[in-house]
Amino acid sequence: MLDADLRRHALAARGFMPEDEGDALYVAAVDAAQHARGPFLEVGSYCGRSTVWLGGAARAAKRTLFAVDHHMGSEENQPGWEWHEPDLVDPRTGRMDTLAQFRSTIIDAGLADVVVTVVGDSPVVARSWSTPLAFLFIDGGHGVEPATLDYELWTPHVALGGTLAIHDVFPDPADGGRPPYENIYLPAINSGHFEEIGVTGSLRILRRR
Ligand code: SAH
Ligand code: MG
Repeated sequence: MLDADLRRHALAARGFMPEDEGDALYVAAVDAAQHARGPFLEVGSYCGRSTVWLGGAARAAKRTLFAVDHHMGSEENQPGWEWHEPDLVDPRTGRMDTLAQFRSTIIDAGLADVVVTVVGDSPVVARSWSTPLAFLFIDGGHGVEPATLDYELWTPHVALGGTLAIHDVFPDPADGGRPPYENIYLPAINSGHFEEIGVTGSLRILRRR
């Protein structure tokens, strides 16, 4: 379990990671370090809620966590969409900007030495990435295109024995949007390179073989 002080920071942070799934994410990331070398990487940090669980896991496992987000919000975070939070719009640009909230979350939690903030478009970062990952968490854009690109460009970087965690996987369309299931989870399973080792809510944990 994440230490009690960090856990309070995670629960106080804004975002979309339920408590039980955050705890499962922590356990999966600490365990991942027993099975593969390399850093951890998160795609989609928003205000840093999941990042605190993963940063705590990275500290416990003596790894670095790269947290990738352009901090401009996903399609579903924009004005008029279901997951929009109006106070996160920068009045100067009229655009979503979660970077300041994210920085506060990480600094307040004391994780600035463990979490490396990568501000950029996920596919652009992925195309220049070459370090095998012990743990990859995908929770970025949930449309078909961003989900497909995150699958295609990031999952090849999971080390053999490494772990792939996917958030918001809803096999039943009545429970939520489909792309994390259809465009990330199913292709990973069907590739034969990943086997499922854990399920908590919409969080799926897969191991690379
Ligand atoms: N993991 C977070 C929630 C992430 S929400 C939590 O626990 O609360 C999804 C995030 O993905 C948003 O912050 C959005 O800015 C980011 N995102 C969406 N598409 C992206 C892209 N193409 N490149 C980088 N980040 C992206
Ligand atoms: Mg999510």
